[in-house]
Amino acid sequence: MWKFLLLAVAGYLLYRLFANDIAKKGKASKTEDAEETRRKVEAGEMVKDPVCGVYVSTEGNISVRDGDKVYQFCSYDCRDKFLNQLKEGGRELPPLG
Ligand SMILES: [Zn+2]
Repeated sequence: MWKFLLLAVAGYLLYRLFANDIAKKGKASKTEDAEETRRKVEAGEMVKDPVCGVYVSTEGNISVRDGDKVYQFCSYDCRDKFLNQLKEGGRELPPLG
């Protein structure tokens, strides 16, 4: 019985340790990332993926040109969704990459 208790306590402590660590790291990197993203958006280095809302680099090659506007996507999935939406709206654009 005492072995089980010891295991439970050890497990609990380990869990606390990890939970704390993850919470701390997650919080720190999240604010840093947000700050970095904001800076890049202002500098025109990053734009929002219009499908999923993730910020992606304007250097990315998954993009669609719509007249003067170039849309950037985080993945081909998002790009295809975007193109399909346009298609449903009666428009078709050639994918760039
Ligand atoms: Zn996306």
